Amino acid sequence: MIIVMQAGASEREIEAVEEAIRRFGYAPHPIYGVERTVIGAVGDERGKSRLQSLDTLPGVERVIPILKPYKLAGRELRKEKTLIEVAPGAVFGGRAVSVIAGPCSVEGLEAICAAAEAVKAGGARILRGGAYKPRTSPYSFQGLAEEGLQMLATARDRTGLPVATEVMKESLVERVAETADLIQIGTRNMQNFDLLKALGQVRKPVLLKRGLASTIREWLMSVEYVLAAGNPNVILCERGIRTFETATRNTLDLSAISVLKRETHLPVVVDPSHGTGHWAFVEDMAAAAVAAGADGLMIEVHPSPTEAWSDGEQSLTPERFARLMEKVRAVAAAVGREI
Ligand code: PEP
Ligand code: MN
Repeated sequence: MIIVMQAGASEREIEAVEEAIRRFGYAPHPIYGVERTVIGAVGDERGKSRLQSLDTLPGVERVIPILKPYKLAGRELRKEKTLIEVAPGAVFGGRAVSVIAGPCSVEGLEAICAAAEAVKAGGARILRGGAYKPRTSPYSFQGLAEEGLQMLATARDRTGLPVATEVMKESLVERVAETADLIQIGTRNMQNFDLLKALGQVRKPVLLKRGLASTIREWLMSVEYVLAAGNPNVILCERGIRTFETATRNTLDLSAISVLKRETHLPVVVDPSHGTGHWAFVEDMAAAAVAAGADGLMIEVHPSPTEAWSDGEQSLTPERFARLMEKVRAVAAAVGREI
């Protein structure tokens, strides 16, 4: 339910409504607008009719149901776009299009620092690199784990770039959140609900990648788990879905950008590297994503892709990354954005 307060409702009146929401067993999520405050009341669907009586409290204008199942992620409760600042200069959801770039995996200290310098020179705002890698085969490189996290921290110290890295299990959420400025949830874990709930307990923003066979509605319900658990800072990342097409690794669903812009106030990032699976397609799809309104990009870049320990075939060289950035800068300017 949305409790719409009257314009000029006092702080005490707002607090009294929040208190009543809690008494009914719901969680209040206030949104302070310029003109008026609205309070989302979310929780167990079964007893929601009790909330209707809140329209008798002083300062309340009306009580209206939220029709979409993603109560906090949806536009019904919050009309304006949410700005998420990962670090100064790395903001998602505003006029700027922020680029996250780096290798698929952290492979060593000097390698990650070289990659960081290269993507920084190209204009990336955040360094990416996996320390814990979800690999299809148990015989593939699984990531440098704790050591990899420490290398990312050193790369941040040396370059000043904030870092994004994946967490795969609940027991590591706190540890990864210590190092990561942006915590990635990979496609394979989009519906790992215990992991999503655990992310509600940390304050760092979350990059939630779309499940490889998930609908947009399922994806938004996963976002809702993180928001409902207490972390409001979620960025969605379209990374391609599984279809009958085999010419590309996945099918990059660019229409998801438009759908999400209508359905949610949260920022949307596109990952054309995993979306296509081949470096030659990455630049075009990055440009198309920005043209379609993406708030950010995630690009795999490796100083020497042929020697990469994972996803080399879809990684750009620093030179190709610099060329991509030039192109997307021009596209961004043409659609009223900047990079
Ligand atoms: C990655 O970003 O390297 C990754 C494993 O992504 P995804 O979860 O989208 O496959
Ligand atoms: Mn990868």
